[in-house]
Amino acid sequence: MNYKDSYDWGRRILEAAGIQEADWDARLLLETICGTDRNILLVHGERPLSREEESKYQDWIQKRAQHIPLQHLTGEQEFMGLTFLVNEHVLIPRQDTEILVEEVMREMTDGSRILDMCTGSGCILLSLLHYSNDCLGTGADLSREALAVARENARRLGIQACFLCSDLFDKIEDKYDIIVSNPPYIQTGVIGGLMDEVRLHEPLSALDGGEDGLVFYRKILEGCGKHLVRGGGLYFEIGYDQGEAVKGLMEKHGFSQVKVIKDFAGLDRVVSGLWYE
Ligand code: GLN
Repeated sequence: MNYKDSYDWGRRILEAAGIQEADWDARLLLETICGTDRNILLVHGERPLSREEESKYQDWIQKRAQHIPLQHLTGEQEFMGLTFLVNEHVLIPRQDTEILVEEVMREMTDGSRILDMCTGSGCILLSLLHYSNDCLGTGADLSREALAVARENARRLGIQACFLCSDLFDKIEDKYDIIVSNPPYIQTGVIGGLMDEVRLHEPLSALDGGEDGLVFYRKILEGCGKHLVRGGGLYFEIGYDQGEAVKGLMEKHGFSQVKVIKDFAGLDRVVSGLWYE
């Protein structure tokens, strides 16, 4: 099969399997395998596929048709203009989370000490370090498999960061200027209704925020006072319907100037506050 026919074949299989962005996914898988860009499909559709390219493409299309996330096939995801390695042990970086990173970037200064709680792939911490100067970064996660991904991402991006295996603040000793976190925040009862890609292939431990989705916010708020300097900032990613609840929890725990920030869809996405206790 040539390039264009392969694309059409893949797109049809994915459409039939109910994959939402079948055309995009078929094209991206083909481009990743062949090392090509969009131009080839538009003007050189007759390009032949080698035997290896064809068999890998067929394999990936069949896997994608089974709702394995695209990023688990290509092994990477773009976030904040950087490429992050991902696998089944980490949450695939979401575009929504860029709002969290941008909010921290707006308020942080060079030389800050930053703690990323529940760091996963490390995408939040490593983006903050990449786009700032002289900051010191620590990423904490309970999952050793996730930390291996985060460390590899740091190595690939040429960024110095410290990654610690810790059950929330258990192994954390220092104080920080900034604590940032995208903790698991989906209500347990909602997880069964998520897309197959998320429900079956992303780590449940990175998604499940307990019965009301707020378990990790409460635990982090209980521990974080000891680890923030006076005037330090706490930044949480939240679910679209958690703004008021998390704002209330932060105020109850003594945070000042607590604000809820919306994403580009106009939905509550980030809550931040300052620590002056
Ligand atoms: N935003 C993610 C999702 O919709 C969940 C992230 C999280 O629980 N921290 O799947």
